[in-house]
Amino acid sequence: MLLFDTVFNGNDKVYAITEEAVNAAIAQHGEDKAVSFPDTAYVLPCYYSVTGTKITTLKEMKEALGVIKSLMTRERRLNDAFMSGVATALCAEFVEALKYIDGATPYEAPCAGHLPDAIIRELGVPLVTGDIPGVAVILGSAPSADEGVALVKSYQEQGMLVTLVGGIIDQVVEKGMKTGANVRVVPLGKDVTSVIHVVSVALRAALIFGNIKPGDAANLMKYTFERVPAFVNAFKPLDDVIVACGAGAIALGFPVITNDMEFTPSVPKSLIKLDDVSKFNAASLEARDIKIKITHIDIPVSFASAFEGEIIRRGDMQVEFDGSRVDCFELVQTKELTEVEDHKIELIGPDIDEFEVGSKQSIGFVVEVAGKKMQTDFEPVIERKFHSYINCAEGIMHTGQRDMIRIRVSKEAFDAGFRAKHLGEILYAKVKNDYEAVVDRCQVKIYTKAEDCTNLRHGLVTEMFDKRDERLLSLTDESVDVYYSCILCQAFSPSHVCVVTPERLGLCGAVSWLDAKATNELEPEGACQIITKEGVLDEKLGAYESVNDAVKKYSMGALERVTLYSIMEDPMTSCGCFECICGIEPLSNGVAIANREYAGVTPLGMTFPEMASMTGGGVQTPGFMGHGKHFISSKKFMAAEGGLERIVWMPKELKETVAERLNATAKEMYGIDNFTDMIGDETIAEDPETLFAFLQEKNHPALGMDPLM
Ligand code: SF4
Ligand code: ZN
Repeated sequence: MLLFDTVFNGNDKVYAITEEAVNAAIAQHGEDKAVSFPDTAYVLPCYYSVTGTKITTLKEMKEALGVIKSLMTRERRLNDAFMSGVATALCAEFVEALKYIDGATPYEAPCAGHLPDAIIRELGVPLVTGDIPGVAVILGSAPSADEGVALVKSYQEQGMLVTLVGGIIDQVVEKGMKTGANVRVVPLGKDVTSVIHVVSVALRAALIFGNIKPGDAANLMKYTFERVPAFVNAFKPLDDVIVACGAGAIALGFPVITNDMEFTPSVPKSLIKLDDVSKFNAASLEARDIKIKITHIDIPVSFASAFEGEIIRRGDMQVEFDGSRVDCFELVQTKELTEVEDHKIELIGPDIDEFEVGSKQSIGFVVEVAGKKMQTDFEPVIERKFHSYINCAEGIMHTGQRDMIRIRVSKEAFDAGFRAKHLGEILYAKVKNDYEAVVDRCQVKIYTKAEDCTNLRHGLVTEMFDKRDERLLSLTDESVDVYYSCILCQAFSPSHVCVVTPERLGLCGAVSWLDAKATNELEPEGACQIITKEGVLDEKLGAYESVNDAVKKYSMGALERVTLYSIMEDPMTSCGCFECICGIEPLSNGVAIANREYAGVTPLGMTFPEMASMTGGGVQTPGFMGHGKHFISSKKFMAAEGGLERIVWMPKELKETVAERLNATAKEMYGIDNFTDMIGDETIAEDPETLFAFLQEKNHPALGMDPLM
């Protein structure tokens, strides 16, 4: 059968190219030369996940070619074709890795090449919430640039993460389409081997979130098949190399859709032939069983989560509402049912066309909601979503929250007809859609007169925010009767459970106790369940019978016990999408924290990806803990081991972000002034000895505390 010959031929070709490239590299650099990709703890990720062996030098790479050869069996059976596909993928990874020798940066904008671990961790939550419903891999050149761009846009408008390989990249560039991870269109590279960079993302997801042991190829493929919603669109003409790569994709469970009608075999649900490129989208979604959530919103620009990260530059903006310079605010306010007329959107003041182009203006909007099940506790939860709601409109940018917001409306959006009332339409539609269980009626008032904004901000708005802050301050683990479990991440981390308390938010940073409470109210059978605080086992550790029962139940028995406040004894597990990770720094008897954005090394001798690789997949790992940024200033941070006085090191930027709250807690609990001044960062020390000397000089409290280990 043609399929086998094509796959085997393609595999042979790629193998020969790889062997030659490895030999050439050895001739040039010597066999002890190091090989790696940047910003990953899983070198080389594909080979490591499939075989369990880390390749670090050219010598090891050459030896590994023998292992790849052993996958290249040549029986005419489907499994042999799939294994040849995997072998092709592994070869491609070697070819790509060689490009990075000597710290080279082989890819230039717009191509990304290798994607760092941090991006995979960022994908976790949006993939489970359906915010990113799937991953499209588009390969080759579309019949025309217009058709290619239309296909890419169709996925982008569904919020999909789109990766591009080969000729399609020039086509989207030619049509002036914006690309980049922030708009979810990521050109990988022009060589077909660069497709490995998205395969590498899928395989690392299995290691990071799925607790798949490297080398367990069977479970690896089961994981990607069941949990990574990816698919391939390959344009004609398919050559045997592309087909061999395609066999690898199918082996991982990713269907391939192609318009190469001459290519004979088609395999139901796995290899689909379609002449008409405009039907690729629907066919791909169906083959991979991807469901798209649609909220219809009556606005003149596109609306999709893919536009959330879009940036509007100063020169491109029609008008800017800037809360840092003039009075602005956004507010959700609970009203009586009789006070709210559903879908009423009122603009009080001038519209956008009355403002000078490029000027700074005031804006304030009050979203008034009413419903029998509405609670004031849900106001901040809904309000915090405004950022994402407004950002999803193409050409509109929103940053900040409360009375520190900034909104930019681009000239493009303005020319398309976008006006102030459309902000109201967005907020109305999304609030009604996402909170239908608690919001029966919703109306929006938009104020654009400077004096109205000033009066309201310093009156009603401040009053409401103050009341809310008081409520938040009074919310402590002791003051409430229930905690919540969250199992949203089980879509990727099948045995992971977060226990969310008022003083310990979910490790992703996105789920506070109030969020969990609202989620439970919205979906009583959903991801967040009530844990009634009962059966204290150890107050200091935060050990409760009811918490243990809950994690046992929701982890399907994978976890027996979890404590709320200890990093050493039955610590909470991690899925993989944590904002920060802390790990014990033995010399100073404290912990060092790294955040996902931090690219350097910590005094643990590890980078963020390396520390992060120590935990995840729902497994308990004493000594390492994934957590949210806000948890750093919590009175419950490592409370069982002495609390936040244990923090000895943090990246400078993170330290600045958390300083105000952390210093306030340290002062209140331990009477320490400016605690952050005692904490090291990368400008002070990157190794334990220098850090220790610094801590001694500052008389850091951790040095005098009980040994951690
Ligand atoms: Fe995932 Fe935990 Fe965040 Fe829930 S709280 S979304 S389980 S990380
Ligand atoms: Zn997660």
